[in-house]
Amino acid sequence: MLIYESVINRSKSVNTEQISQLIVLSAKLVKMGKIFLEHMGGTRLFSCARCDTNLTNRSELISTRFTGATGRAFLFNRVVNLTYSEVQDRVMLTGRHMVRDVSCKSCDSKLGWMYEFATEDNQKYKEGRVILERALVAESDGMDERSFYERRRNN
Ligand SMILES: [Zn+2]
Repeated sequence: MLIYESVINRSKSVNTEQISQLIVLSAKLVKMGKIFLEHMGGTRLFSCARCDTNLTNRSELISTRFTGATGRAFLFNRVVNLTYSEVQDRVMLTGRHMVRDVSCKSCDSKLGWMYEFATEDNQKYKEGRVILERALVAESDGMDERSFYERRRNN
């Protein structure tokens, strides 16, 4: 009851003009409809080949010995800025897996798939990991994480 009263009292101090300004501001934010994107950072980056949205980096790379629909594909530990399809049951060379197709969160290009579940014990390491097809991603040099002064000292 005390808490309730204090909320009422506080709301009295906000005038109607301020409230309408807040409503206009939140409506503007909704209209912008901006997609929230993350950036992994790192010195060697992998991004969407179509729109250049950052996806992951070299330190998340587990294996380059995979094959996708377009040829060579990479297995990563962690990949950001993806959307996931419904789970699909797929029989692959390495056994039966439950997978989700993954697409770029920004431009919706298909990029590969994620392993949701592997039936074979020796394939369990793939669960929760993501395949990106090499032809669908771009590699680039990332930011040098040392500061300007550190670089000058070391070079
Ligand atoms: Zn994209």
